[in-house]
Amino acid sequence: MNAEIISVGSELLLGQIANTNAQFLSKQLAELGINVYYHTVVGDNSSRLEEAIKISQSRSDLIIFTGGLGPTKDDLTKETIARVLGKKLVIDSDALRSIEDFFKKTQRHMTENNKKQALVLEGSEVLRNDHGMAPGMGLKVEDITYMLFPGPPKELNPMFTTYGASFLLKEIGEVERIESRVLRFFGIGESQLETEIEDLIDNQSNPTIAPLANDGEVTLRLTAKHRSTEVAKRLLDDTEALIVARVGEFLYGYGSTTLVDELMEKLTSAQLTIGSAESLTGGLFTEGLTKLSGASAVVKGGIVCYTNESKEQVLQINKATLETEGAVSESTAAELASNVRKLLNTDIGISFTGVAGPSESEGKPVGTVYIGISYLDQPTKVFSLRLAGTRQGIRIRTVKYGCHYLLK
Ligand code: ATP
Ligand code: MG
Repeated sequence: MNAEIISVGSELLLGQIANTNAQFLSKQLAELGINVYYHTVVGDNSSRLEEAIKISQSRSDLIIFTGGLGPTKDDLTKETIARVLGKKLVIDSDALRSIEDFFKKTQRHMTENNKKQALVLEGSEVLRNDHGMAPGMGLKVEDITYMLFPGPPKELNPMFTTYGASFLLKEIGEVERIESRVLRFFGIGESQLETEIEDLIDNQSNPTIAPLANDGEVTLRLTAKHRSTEVAKRLLDDTEALIVARVGEFLYGYGSTTLVDELMEKLTSAQLTIGSAESLTGGLFTEGLTKLSGASAVVKGGIVCYTNESKEQVLQINKATLETEGAVSESTAAELASNVRKLLNTDIGISFTGVAGPSESEGKPVGTVYIGISYLDQPTKVFSLRLAGTRQGIRIRTVKYGCHYLLK
């Protein structure tokens, strides 16, 4: 199914608002496995909208409209579509009732043009508007599916997820089911991951494999289509197995999970407690864990030790270590991790020290990072990194690496 989106509204052309509706819908359609090939923006002008519709009809089998379903004169989307399709507009009694109820409830006077919002394309499935008055519509005419949504995102977004997606699923479900799965990787760059599985990406069409990089993480979205859901799932399993055979060591989770979520789950189920000494990250690691419910069984505490003075006085780091090797060093990271573990009486102690920038420190370049991990009475491990990016980017990725090493 090839789709396109026509957003109607002169404010969009004037640059007064951004076309977030097209962005939202594109994301949603991608999740349903529907390809979106064009975004069009047209002003509130019937003849130009008609022109756009005709172009779309020549190349797409799903055309989604947003905006122009309201009561005012410049709202002319459905009138124009009705004319192009040779369909009548008819009053939808449910929509009319909910508009009347709305006016009764708010004790406002209902004008004749408000009734216009209850007009729908004859033969269409009406998509209820639970957050406004103008209903949406879905309609199939001569092998092309049309969907109409109101302009305000707070009306469109829930209308799409509650009613629009299932309308579309019915439409495409006649031919095939779509199953998708997101695999999340950390510790491997996007280009390296893509190189490792290049032949799979190039040769697989069902499932398709779509990589996406964000904040130092890479995700692969696998999307399989088949008439049988079972078979679609099996296709996903098979492709996942091929991917895992090559880069499985970097796979940390599925769907919308995060490294912190996974760490919390691991520590909770292993009944392990943790404490942290955070210099570079200034509390970001502890913030990530304590945001999650169940943190109190896992997190005993975290100490932000930003200056050498606090490292020395609160965490009892050797003055000699700080003087000879510096705060950003393997030895300081190791001492911080093991001292915070003892101080907070936890199973695990973790430390973060490094140079976030913008300028170097102790003669060490921006992006130099040491992460210490002390676990029970085992020897303390220190991981050293050289990260690139902005100050905040380095801090965020340092926390992710901390979680990554703890998950190993
Ligand atoms: P209403 O009943 O509110 O008039 P409508 O369906 O007629 O709804 P429009 O009049 O086109 O929609 O737009 C109403 C408001 O919705 C706009 O002022 C804008 O804030 C928002 N909006 C419209 N189109 C978009 C879009 N493509 N992306 C983001 N916001 C939009
Ligand atoms: Mg309007």
